[in-house]
Amino acid sequence: MENDQVTFVKGLQCRECHHQFPKEPLHVCEFCFGPLEVVYNYDEIKKSLTREAIQGRPTNMWRYKELLPIDGEPTVGAQVGWTPLVKADRLAKALGLKELYIKNDAVNYPTLSFKDRVVSVAMSKAKEFGFKTVACASTGNLANSVAANAAASGWESYIFIPYDLEQGKVLGTLVFGTNLVGIKGTYDEVNRLCSEIAAKYKWAFVNINIRPYYAEGSKAMGYEIAEQLGWKIPQNIVVPMAGGSLITKLAKSFDELTKIGLVEKSPIKVFGAQATGCSPITTAVKNEWELFKPVRPDTICKSLAIGNPADGFYAANVMRKSGGWGEDVTDEEIVDSMKLLGQTEGIFAETAGGVTLGVARKLIAQGRINKDESVVLCITGNGLKTQEVLVGKVGEPKIINAKLGEFDDLYQKHHK
Ligand SMILES: *Cc1c(COP(=O)(O)O)cnc(C)c1O
Ligand SMILES: [Zn+2]
Repeated sequence: MENDQVTFVKGLQCRECHHQFPKEPLHVCEFCFGPLEVVYNYDEIKKSLTREAIQGRPTNMWRYKELLPIDGEPTVGAQVGWTPLVKADRLAKALGLKELYIKNDAVNYPTLSFKDRVVSVAMSKAKEFGFKTVACASTGNLANSVAANAAASGWESYIFIPYDLEQGKVLGTLVFGTNLVGIKGTYDEVNRLCSEIAAKYKWAFVNINIRPYYAEGSKAMGYEIAEQLGWKIPQNIVVPMAGGSLITKLAKSFDELTKIGLVEKSPIKVFGAQATGCSPITTAVKNEWELFKPVRPDTICKSLAIGNPADGFYAANVMRKSGGWGEDVTDEEIVDSMKLLGQTEGIFAETAGGVTLGVARKLIAQGRINKDESVVLCITGNGLKTQEVLVGKVGEPKIINAKLGEFDDLYQKHHK
């Protein structure tokens, strides 16, 4: 770290026993084994960060740099973020909602998922720490993003995935020339192995030893939503959950904006979405369990297939505290909602998007989402990466010879 760089980061703090730690590549508390979190000097941020200052900056997630945990300028992923917040009127009508928005991180740069945000922060921080090799355990999108950003930065990378991921996620990692290792097991088994590898090899594992910094990158999605709504917090937000980090960081982002006076305090109900075939967090919420029970995933939504979610406990608390709820949907409902999103808004989301919309539909039917209130759906990944789930589910092209007569016949058959 250079001396002339302004930073608002105080250090790390244990989420359980609140013991303080310096800004280092640490992720667990040495006293109670609780997870560590980045803490900021909000009084100082409040003094120097205004709406006008932010609005004058380039349209990427680094416009909120004071609220992100790096000391210097971002060295990785400087163009990430500022994805569209789409006013989804046609989908709103289909759902009977008054005011619906889609935060479309399916078009995030460079690898079409919200993971580009967390990787940008993690790798920029890892560079400040002096690491030269980056690694991750991934359900797919993180693999794509780490591989791409490592290639663009000239870093060596090691990526660990369950061996049976979708082809789009696998090829979309290999193309960047990384070291990709497929593990015969679930993500939770990949993650356990990676903890051992991280202890032995001195790499920046973005979601292990760099995790406290990595996770902060998710907050930018919340800042953007508030700014794009005209510096307002929506009344409801529906968020897909894998490890449960994104949902907790979105809640944190809205708290922070309120704390530093960039938005007025207003209630937001936070709803978490999972696939029924891997729903440890929503099952705990629905049963009002204090703790979730780990599961063995069995769903087409592989990006969210984490059976033992690291932030599951905190995610459940965020939902409860906000007056929100958790729900889950079957594989069939996931595909059905991917189609509805495509056919109403022209947005091709991956399976996780089908989870988010499917869960929103359930929550509306249950009356848990009030139809008169504003709702934001977080679409976090791109459908081009999970095409196999649609095979045989969206019809077939009608094949004809290049003859006008054959088209006329087809058209007439269709319009009778
Ligand atoms: C990783 C991921 C999430 C959420 O991840 P968390 O571990 O809960 O932060 C959501 N959607 C997609 C598409 C993802 O890849
Ligand atoms: Zn502790």
